[in-house]
Order: sequence, then structure tokens, then C-alpha cells
Amino acid sequence: MSMLLRRHGRSSEALSAGQSSAVGMDAYVQMESPPCVMYGPPATSTGSIASGLLVADVKVPLLDVEVVNLELIKKQTNKRSPHLSCPHCCKNVERLQVWQFVSARTSLTKGKTTWPFSALIPGHMPHSFECCTVKVEYYFKATFIFSPTSKLEKRHPIEIRRSILPSTPKSFQRLFPPTSLNVTLQTPNVVHPSSYIPVTFQLTGFKEPNSSTSWAVSRISWRIEERIKTTIRSCHGHDDADKVHTYQDTRILGTNDYKRGWKIDNDRLLFELPLSFALDARYVCDLRLNCGNTELDISHCLVLELVMIEVVGSQPVDSNARLLRMKVKLVVTTQPGLGVSWDEECPPLFDSVGPSPPCYDEVVESPTNESPREPSAPNAMCNCPCP
Ligand SMILES: [Zn+2]
Ligand SMILES: [Zn+2]
Repeated sequence: MSMLLRRHGRSSEALSAGQSSAVGMDAYVQMESPPCVMYGPPATSTGSIASGLLVADVKVPLLDVEVVNLELIKKQTNKRSPHLSCPHCCKNVERLQVWQFVSARTSLTKGKTTWPFSALIPGHMPHSFECCTVKVEYYFKATFIFSPTSKLEKRHPIEIRRSILPSTPKSFQRLFPPTSLNVTLQTPNVVHPSSYIPVTFQLTGFKEPNSSTSWAVSRISWRIEERIKTTIRSCHGHDDADKVHTYQDTRILGTNDYKRGWKIDNDRLLFELPLSFALDARYVCDLRLNCGNTELDISHCLVLELVMIEVVGSQPVDSNARLLRMKVKLVVTTQPGLGVSWDEECPPLFDSVGPSPPCYDEVVESPTNESPREPSAPNAMCNCPCP
């Protein structure tokens, strides 16, 4: 939510009154649907609905307009392409939906004229995000054409999130031969970076069979890792056409270690691991993307390390120590909040959803770099004409 508010704030500040007053009107998009959340994994999600009004606020008695249209745009930017000045390598702009509200000369009278719209963001689309290599953003782009030399363009960003719903916790077991140590770990099926993550850790098999020695835990540590794997292919305009550039990055989003705090009961150690993301962690929810010349895989895992020492009674034996490490997958997703998927809810009454603050900004873009591709049949991962 805070990101959404920040973006609203920024876009409002970016409003340039100059162009609007020059054409005799202002325009903005007013969203009426709740924040866009796609529930469930990409393969089964029914997507999210974004509905609202395109508003033209005419300041003069009568204003002729030839074209009014609204587009829903998905823009993907590659930040690590080897050809940063090449628009084909670095940008992929797709037009997901178009509304042609006016296509022949029409007069708008002074005051507000509104056009309602409702967009379905398909559930297989990536959520809005920015990582070290790639950024995906969505926005509505409104275009008013008054004459061949006069037009007004406004852009309204929308934040699209994905939420995979909590269900049965997952259990993992690891054995560490030749010892008889046996770890059982239970994690939630999905984790939310903003809340405490309950993980139960159990260790058994301290006593070595047919031996007087046993194992004692001296330290337990955990870390949450984010792995980002990006492959970007150069476009055909370069000497290295089709060459695949791979970038891999592993980041630590939270970590801690303990020398005490667990309970030991006979041959069993129990520890409720208090996992959480670092307060300043910059994370991206789990994502797989295969669009245009880019493939991206963002995943997360929990790495658990135990330092064990061999003891007789409580005395260490020959300072014999072992490091046990286990790694399990964590699915990081947005908190579902109170929302339900659009196909499971009753349609909201008009009054039940307050108007969002108006937010809009001037579109500053070079037409050659950003001319959207025509809509085409969706492929497995997205809507663009991927090969
Ligand atoms: Zn290129
Ligand atoms: Zn694509």
C-alpha cells in the first residue's frame, strides 16, 4: 500500500499544468476498484480486475476532440542488457487492452466528461516489481487528440501484486549420515516479508549407537536468501545477436544465529525459529518471467546451519565439530489482506469503494522507443509476441 501511495504522490507532483491549460482541458484516471491483487499461482490465477473512470475536465465552453482512447500498458525494462542504448534490447512495451472512447470529431462541453472502463489483468502476467536486472510496470495511458498538431497524454501507474494463499504447512526432513542426526523442519507454505514467519525445528539422534559419545548443538543459524537468475538475449541489431547474457545474484534478506533458546527433552531438541525479513530488506516476491528476450527466475530459500560438537557426558571430545547445513524453498508472496478474488466476490456497490485520489502525469516518452506492440495471442507466460 505504501508503494501505491508513494506512486500516487509522485505522479500528482509530476503534473504539468502547462500542456493541459494550452489545450483547454485536463484529464486523469480515477480508479474505483480495490488494489490489484492476482490470487493464486500464475498457472491457475483468474487475474485481477482494474476498473475506473477516465475523466476529462474541460475548462473552456466547448472543445473539439477527434480521438479519445485509453490503453493498458505493460512495460518491461532490462537494466543489465549489454546494449543499454538499444530500445529493442532494453524495453518491451505491450498494449494489453485498448478502449477507443471517441474516434470521430466530437465536442466536449465545459466540465467533466467521464468514460468508465474495466480491465482484466490475466492471472499469468508477472506482478509489478523491480529487481537488480529487470523492472515490470503497468500503467494506463490516456490520449486525447484535438488536431494533427495538438494532443494530450496522461499516464496513471497501477501496482499489480500477486498473493498465493496460505494452506497446510510444509514439512522437510534431512538425515546427516554417518551420524544418526535427523532434522525435521516445518515452514508455512507461503511467507509474507512483513510478518513473523513461524518455523519449527526439531533435531533427534544425538546419541551415537554403540558409542559413549553424543552430539551437542553449539550454534544454530538461519538466513533467508533471494536468488535472482536473469538471462537476456541481444537483439539482431548487434554483433553478438542472440548471445545469451546470464546474471546471477544471491542476496540475504534476513539472518540470525543463536547459542541458546531451544528446549531439549531426552533425545530431542525443539526450537521455534523466529524468522523474519530484515526491516530494510528489498525483496521481490517469487516470480518466473519469460518475455521477449528476457528470462527471469526469482526464488527464495531458507538456509539453516548447525554447529554440532561431539561430547562424552558434557565434555567435548577432541574438539570434534561438524557443520550441518540444510536448505529449503520458501515461497514469498504478498499478504492476502481482506481481499478475495474477483470471481469469488459479489460485485462491490458503487458507494462501497471510495474514489482514489486523482493521480496523473504527463507522458514524456520517445515514440520510437515506446510504440506498443499490437495485442496478440497470449503465450504461456505473457501477452507479448514472444518467439
Ligand atoms: Zn539491441
Ligand atoms: Zn512477452
